[in-house]
Amino acid sequence: MWKIGNLSAAKGEKVKGYLQFDLTKEKLPAFLIHGEQDGPEVLILGGIHGCEYTSIDAALKLARRLEPKDVKGRLSIIPIANPASFYARSIYVHPEDKKNLNRSFPGKEKGSAAEKLAYCLNETVIKSADYLIDLHGGDMIEALVPFTIYQVTEDQALTEQSKQFASLFGIEYVVGSTGQVGGSTYACAAQQGKVAVIAEAGQQGILDSSKSSLLQEGVKNALRSIGVIKGDPSSSQIRALQTFDWSFADFSGLWYPCVEIGETVQEKALIGKITDEFGETLKEYYAQTSGVVLFLVTSLAINERDPLLAIGD
Ligand SMILES: [Zn+2]
Repeated sequence: MWKIGNLSAAKGEKVKGYLQFDLTKEKLPAFLIHGEQDGPEVLILGGIHGCEYTSIDAALKLARRLEPKDVKGRLSIIPIANPASFYARSIYVHPEDKKNLNRSFPGKEKGSAAEKLAYCLNETVIKSADYLIDLHGGDMIEALVPFTIYQVTEDQALTEQSKQFASLFGIEYVVGSTGQVGGSTYACAAQQGKVAVIAEAGQQGILDSSKSSLLQEGVKNALRSIGVIKGDPSSSQIRALQTFDWSFADFSGLWYPCVEIGETVQEKALIGKITDEFGETLKEYYAQTSGVVLFLVTSLAINERDPLLAIGD
C-alpha cells in the first residue's frame, strides 16, 4: 500500500480524493496512480499559482488520462495545489496572507496560510518523491514564452540530471536558475536531492488548450526518460540559458513595456517605463543583460516591487 497523507493506493490502483492536513483547512484535489510495476515516485503539481489555468488543466488531464497499467512507479498529481488562490482568482499570492506560495517553501509549521501550506506540501508530498514536476505559466497579467527551469546546486550530478530532465519537455528555453528567487518548489526539492523542474506555458488567465497539450506531452516525454511510462523519449533542440534576470517596479503607477515576449534585447536597451497617473515618466527601465524576454507583465496597473519582466540568457 502506498500512502500519501490521508490518501492511499494499492499496487495497480488509481485513487482520487482530497489531500487534507491537520495544520490547515485546505482541501487539495489529488490523484494517486500506483503502477502495476515498481519504479520511482514522481510528484506533479499544478496551480501553485491559482490563475495559471493552462498548467492546472494540463495536470488535471494527465491525472485523468494516465492509468496504473501505463505507469512503472508511483505518480501523485495535485492539479490545484493552492485552492484558495484558485477560487479567489488571486494573482501571485495566497488570498489569506498575501504571500507567494512559490516563495514560501519549505514553509513553516506555525506560519501564515501560504507558509503552512508549503510546509504541508513539503512534508507530505515533496519529501517522499524522487522527482518533482511543477507546472506553471504566465499569471493572469503576464505574457510568457514557454520555458522550463531547474535549480543549479553545488551537487553537479544532480544539476546535470535536472537539466537533462528539463530539456525533455519539447520546450526550447531551458533556464538554469542560481536561485535569486528563493522559496520555490523546485529549489526546495533540489536542496533535498530530488530532480526537480518547473515547466511554464500559457498566459494571461486564458486556458490555452494547445499549450496545455504541450505541457502534457512534455511531462509524458520526461516520464519516458526515467522509465515511468513506456517508450523512448524524443529529444528536441533546446537553448540553455544561464541567467534569469528579473526587473521589478520601483514605483506604483502605469507600466508601459516596449518589448515583447520572445524578443531578443540587447543590454542597456529600453524595455519600458512607469509613469504616474498624470502620464509623467517616473522611471525608464533598461535591460540589465542581453537575452530573450521570457515573461512580461502586461497589466497597465503596476505596484511597487511587482515583477515587470524577466530576461534569460
Ligand atoms: Zn507560477
